[in-house]
Amino acid sequence: MVRLNEIRAGERSVDLPAKADAELYFIGRIRTPWTDRLTCPRQGRGDGPTCRIELSPPWEQGLDGISQFSRLEVLYWLHESRRDLVLQSPRNDGQARGVFSLRTPVRPNPIGTSIVELVRIERATLFVRGLDCLDGTPLIDIKPDRTLFTPLAPAQSGDFQVGDAG
Ligand code: SAM
Repeated sequence: MVRLNEIRAGERSVDLPAKADAELYFIGRIRTPWTDRLTCPRQGRGDGPTCRIELSPPWEQGLDGISQFSRLEVLYWLHESRRDLVLQSPRNDGQARGVFSLRTPVRPNPIGTSIVELVRIERATLFVRGLDCLDGTPLIDIKPDRTLFTPLAPAQSGDFQVGDAG
């Protein structure tokens, strides 16, 4: 069962620091069919519904060149999550595990990531498959899937070269 706001047996909350160390710019919103956490999928699927990623001005010009990538990594802010549970019990069975061994949305910095398939682009809107977040979730970043991306800048010492391994 997906958590709403309870603390389960075995879980532990901490006091959050009084002040944050950094700020984010939300660069857009994600539009999905899911309006509550109970029905939202736990992980996106390639055969899931087509969702929209709507970039806000002035960030839409950052989409230049993106159409050459069939898969993207999307980062989003799971804005309805609590942030203070260091031990969590996903099965609600009294057995708790550390937050960093889980992909729970409840985290000190509730950042979600998905690898999505790019279906099409219309102006400042990307149509994608593979998301798992609520309608209206704030968008933090979009990057090419790292397995498709070759750095455009010249190689540097320390970069991995083909043939280095083994
Ligand atoms: N794929 C991402 C990841 O692995 O980083 C997120 C996985 S997280 C398990 C997905 C769950 O987060 C959804 O099933 C839903 O319960 C919850 N969720 C989705 N959007 C959210 C939001 N905007 N605020 C809080 N919780 C959200």
